[in-house]
Amino acid sequence: MDLTSILFLGSGSNLVLPNLVEATVIRPRFSQIEITSEDDKFATIEVGSGVEWNEFVQWSLKNHFYGLENLSLIPGTVGASPIQNIGAYGVEVKDFIIQVNAYDFTERKFVTYSNSDCAFDYRHSKFKESDRRNTMICSVVFKLKKTDCSDVSYVELKNYLTENNLPIRAEYVRDAVVAIRSKKLPDPKVIGNVGSFFKNPIVSKSKLLKLQSEFPNIVSYPYSDDRFKLAAGWLIDQLGFKGHQLGEVKMFETQALVMVNCGRATRLDVENLRDKIRTEVHKKFDVDLETEPIFW
Ligand code: NAP
Repeated sequence: MDLTSILFLGSGSNLVLPNLVEATVIRPRFSQIEITSEDDKFATIEVGSGVEWNEFVQWSLKNHFYGLENLSLIPGTVGASPIQNIGAYGVEVKDFIIQVNAYDFTERKFVTYSNSDCAFDYRHSKFKESDRRNTMICSVVFKLKKTDCSDVSYVELKNYLTENNLPIRAEYVRDAVVAIRSKKLPDPKVIGNVGSFFKNPIVSKSKLLKLQSEFPNIVSYPYSDDRFKLAAGWLIDQLGFKGHQLGEVKMFETQALVMVNCGRATRLDVENLRDKIRTEVHKKFDVDLETEPIFW
C-alpha cells in the first residue's frame, strides 16, 4: 500500500477534498460502545471510531452519563471527535477523552495516546498535523460523569431554557442545542457544508483594545490569561459576506461562519471564497483567519 496517500474517512463532515482523490480510502467502521469501568461518580467508556457522534451522545444520556449534551448534533463520527477537538456551547471534547487508540500505518503497530499526548488545543490536536496522516483512530476512551451538571454559560442556551420554562437538566440542554442548531445551521445532509469554516481568532489584550477603539461593537470573549477570542462570524458579517455567493459557494444566510455548497462547488470555488474573505478581514481588522476543516 502506498503510505503517502491514505485518506481516512469518518463521514467527511470536516473535510475539503480535491476534485479527484487519488488515494487509498479507508473508512473505519468500528462500532462498539463498551463500559470498561465504573464507580459512583464516573464511567469509562470505549467507543469505536465508526460510531456516529450524535448517536453516542444520545446513548450516553439515555444511560445517565453526562457531560456531552452541549455537543449534541455535531455531525461526524466518534473517531473524528479528537482530531479537531470538537466543541460547542462552552464544552470541548478534550475534557472527556482519556485515551485514543490508533493504528500507525508507518510504524505498522497499534499505539495509544493519553489525553496529554493528543496535544489538544482550540479546535486542534496532534492528529491534525501532517505527520499523523498515517494514523487511523480505532477507538476513543471517554470518562463521563454520573451526575447531571450541565454548562449553560452560553447566553443562547440559557435563554432557550428560560423562554421554554425548562430546568437545567442534561436532557433539556440537549433538546435546546438540537433546536438552536437546527434553526441556525444548515444540515450537511441537505446543504453541503463543513460546519464552521474559520476558527475564531485568538488575540492579545493589546490587540483587542486596539480593535475595540476602532470597532466598539466587536464581539469578543476572554479565552485564557491575557488572550481573547474574537467571533469570526461577526468579522465576516461586518464585511457583508453573509449570504454572499462566489462561484458555487456562499456564506450561509443565518450564520456567516458557515460556507455552503450551492450545488456544484469545486475545490477552487471553496479556495477562492476562502481567500477573498481572509484578504478582506485582514485588510479591515488586521486579523488572520485560519480555516477549521482539513484541506486534504
Ligand atoms: P454564536 O452563538 O453565534 O456565537 C459566536 C461565537 O461566539 C461562537 O463561535 C462562540 O465561540 C462565541 N461565544 C458565544 N458565547 C460565548 C460565551 N459565553 N463564552 C465564550 N465564547 C462564546 O455561535 P454559533 O455559530 O451559533 O455556534 C454555537 C456553538 O456551536 C459554538 O460554540 C460553536 O463553536 C459551535 N459550533 C461548532 C461548529 C463546528 O464546526 N465546530 C459548527 C457550528 C457551531 P466558540 O465557537 O469558541 O464556542
